[in-house]
Amino acid sequence: ASRKHLLSLCFSNTFPQIFINNEWLPSCSGRTFPTINPATGVKICDVEEDDVDEAVQAAKAARKRGSPWRRMDASSRGSLLHKLADLVERDRLLLATLETMDTGKPFLQSFFIDLEGSIKTLRYYAGWADKIHGKSLHIDESFMCLTKHEPVGVCGAIIPWNFPLLMFMWKIAPALSCGNTVVIKPAEQTPLTALHVGSLIKEAGFPPGVVNIVPGFGPTAGAAIASHMDIDKVAFTGSTEVGQLIKEAAAKSNLKRVTLELGGKNPCIVFADCDLQLAVEETQKGAFYNQGQCCTAASRVFVEESIYEEFVRRSIENAKKIVIGDPLDPRTSHGPQIDQQQFDKIMDLIESGKKEGAKLEYGGLAVGEKSLFVHPTIFSGVKDHMRIAKEEIFGPVQCIFSFKSHEKAVERANTSQYGLVSAVFTTSMDRALSVSAALETGTVW
Ligand code: NAD
Repeated sequence: ASRKHLLSLCFSNTFPQIFINNEWLPSCSGRTFPTINPATGVKICDVEEDDVDEAVQAAKAARKRGSPWRRMDASSRGSLLHKLADLVERDRLLLATLETMDTGKPFLQSFFIDLEGSIKTLRYYAGWADKIHGKSLHIDESFMCLTKHEPVGVCGAIIPWNFPLLMFMWKIAPALSCGNTVVIKPAEQTPLTALHVGSLIKEAGFPPGVVNIVPGFGPTAGAAIASHMDIDKVAFTGSTEVGQLIKEAAAKSNLKRVTLELGGKNPCIVFADCDLQLAVEETQKGAFYNQGQCCTAASRVFVEESIYEEFVRRSIENAKKIVIGDPLDPRTSHGPQIDQQQFDKIMDLIESGKKEGAKLEYGGLAVGEKSLFVHPTIFSGVKDHMRIAKEEIFGPVQCIFSFKSHEKAVERANTSQYGLVSAVFTTSMDRALSVSAALETGTVW
């Protein structure tokens, strides 16, 4: 009953419309699209579809010289971000519930991970607002040289469905901290928490037009952001293929700046001297967290031959503890995949693993008949040439490889078109440092 009350409260403040100039607007085209709860297949509501150009004009006006946002002190920008963090904290239960309904991720994960991260992100960037300094440079002759950081201008942001609220904050918080204005498009699968935050942005007191939220689809709203002549920068998180389209559209329009955060096929190297139980639990968390829908998922686990069998055995035991079920039930630790397309892609890759000769140790099946739930799946004996070893699965599939020589393990880990993250499990500090240095990824854990 209290959840029902919470949801009615939620929908009294969350408008499934377009958020422009701190107002809720219907779509000019009159188009709407449904957002579906992936755990039940039931429509939550219809959402109005994009008006990117109107949003961009609002963002452009909000950053004009002399506008309230442009004249605002940096410390006041920081205060507004803190205020927004306070409001997200106030609505934490409501936002976590909404996030779970829209994505299918287990409620406790929404509440403790996504919401915690969102609030901390806002506070972190609130602190930066008045600490971004230029330099004074000593140069020859009688010249004086000072540098000063200016906002880029209108920032476009396109985000995916796996961490809708957290990604929303990762995009808006740094942009606002530096005095930019924003046009952001949530993923079509998961627009609801972003829209609720729209009402909090207004309540916090951000001037109209500073943040504009345009729900819609990639090839229309997303493409319009990437190619818009009045957007000065675009930040994108999602698939590598779409990342390529974004960069191309940016180049062909106004050469706007681009940042891309794309896919991964992330190696974990588990050495025989590791804390074995810790390695089993952490690599599996890495593979199955958020139903495997993480760009940083632990998707290739290389285990040293001498501990390989025991590692596989313990991984199977560990997987048995996972609780599949209603994501709103706090006991649940594993929910559904986001949509039919992702589900089909995962099942196809699981089939390919079986056909190509990997050993299916656990799972490998859908849960029930017409659901989007996939059993956590473990393959051992995975070989580097197999599709499951090369392609990003974005589902709950753990692939375990074995290795003999340390050098070869590093070489195989580095043989990937991706370079997002990697991990090393060892109790030797020397090895941790030398292997980290040899791994060609942006982050090493
Ligand atoms: P996607 O890249 O298609 O979508 C991500 C965002 O980009 C969404 O907001 C979408 O509307 C938008 N988009 C799609 N086409 C666009 C276009 N032509 N121009 C501009 N924007 C566009 O990702 P997806 O289809 O939702 O998932 C497919 C794969 O992407 C996944 O299997 C996974 O490999 C990867 N992915 C990665 C992340 C990540 O965190 N890096 C997140 C989600 C998906």
